[in-house]
Amino acid sequence: MKFDIDTLGIIRSPYKEKFAIPRQPGLVKSARARLELRPPYDQPDVLRGIEQFSHLWLSFVFHQTMAQGWHPTVRPPRLGGNERVGVFATRSTFRPNPLGLSVVELHGVGRERGKLWLDLGAVDLLDGTPVVDIKPYIPYADSLPHARGGFAPEAPTPPLAVSFTPEAEQQLMPWLKAHPELRQLVSEVLAQDPRPAYKKGKPDDKEYGVRLFDLNVRFRISEPDCLVSAIEPA
Ligand code: SAM
Repeated sequence: MKFDIDTLGIIRSPYKEKFAIPRQPGLVKSARARLELRPPYDQPDVLRGIEQFSHLWLSFVFHQTMAQGWHPTVRPPRLGGNERVGVFATRSTFRPNPLGLSVVELHGVGRERGKLWLDLGAVDLLDGTPVVDIKPYIPYADSLPHARGGFAPEAPTPPLAVSFTPEAEQQLMPWLKAHPELRQLVSEVLAQDPRPAYKKGKPDDKEYGVRLFDLNVRFRISEPDCLVSAIEPA
């Protein structure tokens, strides 16, 4: 069987590239996003009652990687990027059907000038991600505290302490009006150490850049420290 599945809405998030997006929702709490509903789903009736729930499940399409297809086995970063396991034993983006599933915070519903959206938090979603289903998170059924977590038994502890140079602090200031959570977002994102696994545990003199909102955030890592050196328009 083949199915036609429609895009219900599009994610607007600060993550403009895959690099540095957390591997699961909930790891970067300050990552706020908006899910803008598309016609014919942009009618308030479809959301009636949703604000009673604190969290939602989103099913979405890994639109940026889907053209690369899939493999029967993958190397999860959680296993250091060397060991192979079956694709269905992972949350890899490279799956036969490129569908993702994330539980996110629901902060509210917005409606203005004919547009309808959901305000979300703690997302792991790229800007522009197409969402194909929205469901409330139901704690009694969805929370299983005694479940076995395989090779990912618990949330990783952020390995880095993030600080800003005085120049970066200055450059940050004007953006706080539009994005009050920006400082926290940069800190939480970089604290996870977004570098590829092979770069970790060795001296690293490279300067990295990550795009958050319309900004290029530049940083260097000398474990366990991460120093933000510049925050500039992208
Ligand atoms: N929570 C989801 C799941 O379990 O299905 C996603 C897990 S996947 C390991 C998380 C990664 O997906 C992020 O680190 C980001 O790089 C990537 N990602 C997020 N949105 C994407 C998109 N629209 N297209 C391709 N990759 C995306």
